[in-house]
Amino acid sequence: MNAVAELQEREGEAQVTLQGVVARTSLDPHPNPFPEGEGTVARPSTCWGQNPSTHACQLIVPRGCERRVGLKERLGLAIAAGLNELFGPLEKRAFGILMYHRVVDPPAGVPRPTWSVPPQLLEAQLSGLLARGWQPWPLSQVLACHERELPIPRKTFVVTFDDGYANNCTQALPILSRLGVPATVFLATAYLDSEEPFPSDDWEAAGQPGIVSDAWRPLSTDECWQMLASGLIDIGAHTHTHADFRDRPGDLLADLQINLAVLRERFGIAQPAFSLPYGTKRDGFASTGLASAARAVGVSCSLTAEATIVRPADSPFDWGRIPAEEHDTARTLAARLGGWQEALRAKFQVPSSKFQGSRSSH
Ligand SMILES: [Zn+2]
Repeated sequence: MNAVAELQEREGEAQVTLQGVVARTSLDPHPNPFPEGEGTVARPSTCWGQNPSTHACQLIVPRGCERRVGLKERLGLAIAAGLNELFGPLEKRAFGILMYHRVVDPPAGVPRPTWSVPPQLLEAQLSGLLARGWQPWPLSQVLACHERELPIPRKTFVVTFDDGYANNCTQALPILSRLGVPATVFLATAYLDSEEPFPSDDWEAAGQPGIVSDAWRPLSTDECWQMLASGLIDIGAHTHTHADFRDRPGDLLADLQINLAVLRERFGIAQPAFSLPYGTKRDGFASTGLASAARAVGVSCSLTAEATIVRPADSPFDWGRIPAEEHDTARTLAARLGGWQEALRAKFQVPSSKFQGSRSSH
């Protein structure tokens, strides 16, 4: 029995420990810079009835929320963008990591895809950043510079995609190739080659008849190879099951070992970068305990979903990422990468993230 098969057998046992965690709650993986209740709506949380035969339905994971950007948030971003254009990036020694998930055009007649940026907007965001003098670096390059204490130019940004949607290859890769923008795709390996939606995918239309599978399907092994062959994409770890690992560093460690074994055996990846599922601190999805577990399995970093820029003193096992969303233009992304949104948030004491499930009325 090879290592992956062996680990997958252990995974069967691990599933048991995935029970009993947060059920039927909502979580927005995109940190909201404004006070509770501002700019969000709850959406119904349903288990994936379409695929009851898979363990996906038994895996109880936090659900996502539809994001509606409120007036206050838009106003804050507009001020941040104005300040960024007037004064340039706020801090002299910092860089930023962008976090994307799905890249798809919204299909007609169904709710808009969650955690998604349409391909044209992705291109406009990235080309707009390039036009503003921002330089895209691979994650491995900022990690190498950090380790050697080499300076990283202030207008450096890194592109990452979480989960491993097929559209990262079919939609995003052609854009990244055209623009020469490198990126890291963090894979939840249990769903590689799956024909079912991710259990963590809260988009109601995912997996429904008539919805192009490209919009929700996990990546295939061939697509991963295609991305790797481009020379622009690195594949990183995002746990095997994308479960809720809050307060369970031991379970995270066991799961990550499977994740790493799959990446090693399928793609020959030895020491991948890692991003935490859900990834927010205030909600417990990022913590020192979870970071220690990640460190113990030998990943090169453990990225959170805290919407912060990265400063020289920050540990790669605590680097935050800025979610690039559907309402973002290159101008607002530049302001966020420039640290202005974060500074305004600190000035007005607005939390950078929150767990929305407690307020959801379902
Ligand atoms: Zn994820």
